[in-house]
Amino acid sequence: MKNIWKEREKALENQFIYEQEKEKIGKMRTAERERQIRELCRNRCPKCGEEIEAVTFRGVPLDRCPGCGGVWLGPNDLKILATKDHRSWFEKWFKAENESSESAA
Ligand SMILES: [Zn+2]
Repeated sequence: MKNIWKEREKALENQFIYEQEKEKIGKMRTAERERQIRELCRNRCPKCGEEIEAVTFRGVPLDRCPGCGGVWLGPNDLKILATKDHRSWFEKWFKAENESSESAA
């Protein structure tokens, strides 16, 4: 006759190992899915999926989508563009705001 307590202990051990492996596989699947998403989306437009192209605007390298015309700026690109182009629309807008508030005072 088999020792039922030994069998029960073995069953619980198997269950524990099964749960641990299930968790590990889940984590591996999530990591692999993330890796694939990053790989497939690299240099792709988040709006239309077209492959984005590198362009240079006023000496600043930018990424542009030929599909929808979207433009991506690097962390400091907007600041560089703002300092390079003093006649930019936002500069004009701020100047107009100041002039109107000064004339009102
Ligand atoms: Zn696009």
